[in-house]
Amino acid sequence: MEADARFKFLLESCDVRGQLVHLDQCWIDAKARTTYPANVSTLLGEAFAATALMAGTIKFDGKLTLQVRGSGDVYLLVVQITNNGELRGLARWNQEPESTVPAAAFGADARITITIETDQFAEPYQGIVPLQGSTLADAITHYFKVSEQLQTQVYFAVSDSSVSGMLLQALPPSERTVGDDDAWARATALADTLTQQELLDESVETLLHRLYHEEEVRLFESSTLAFSCSCSRERTDGMLIGLGEKEVLDIVKEQGEVSISCEFCDAHYQYDAVDVAALFKGYVGSSGNDIDTTH
Ligand SMILES: [Zn+2]
Repeated sequence: MEADARFKFLLESCDVRGQLVHLDQCWIDAKARTTYPANVSTLLGEAFAATALMAGTIKFDGKLTLQVRGSGDVYLLVVQITNNGELRGLARWNQEPESTVPAAAFGADARITITIETDQFAEPYQGIVPLQGSTLADAITHYFKVSEQLQTQVYFAVSDSSVSGMLLQALPPSERTVGDDDAWARATALADTLTQQELLDESVETLLHRLYHEEEVRLFESSTLAFSCSCSRERTDGMLIGLGEKEVLDIVKEQGEVSISCEFCDAHYQYDAVDVAALFKGYVGSSGNDIDTTH
């Protein structure tokens, strides 16, 4: 399967649109800074696939963030994608959950939040639903049902080295041309026969042929996905300015410097007393270690 890409397709004879995403280098880069226990890694991989698929279903100019918070063994899962297909994400856990069933891993109180921040709108869009179902895929399916009110089904497969996801969504009534009541059931029943290994290993052409050779299928151009972090020295400057000079100088006094690490990509931003003085005088010092690329 083509590396780090999202494919869109249309099952014309079923009035169903679909997407396939495949992440490999992106997935390896995303996990490079943290050793995740197997079940946490699976949940994070599924969230990467879910986020990439979700971003493909809507037009937005900015960032889409999927977040799961709960009080269970895994208490935070966050994956973000830009409209350019740049992904980053992480998970935080107290101990490895015994299973990847959402309620068992995240706690019965867990919620899934989707936030879309764009430059045009001051207020970001936010959708929140309880985390339901026996898999994260079920939970995402439920989210679509509630938020878009279109029948949607997602499938995920995660290994150490790659992540794949597939989404099927019934076209809105106004876009349907076939009017076949059985079409949605047929499209999903065929997709249900797909094994996780096939989803991970096979090319989009092979998968679509294997599932839908009796349907009319259109495959559209793919778009590229990649791991990328939007942190920067400038953003860190802004955060420190927001804290206020006194607060920042107190940290320097106590710790000798201000040291901030990006949790997504492990970049380190350090400020000594001179950097802090320059920052609050309106200068941005260049003496700090910018991005540590040795990790
Ligand atoms: Zn970063």
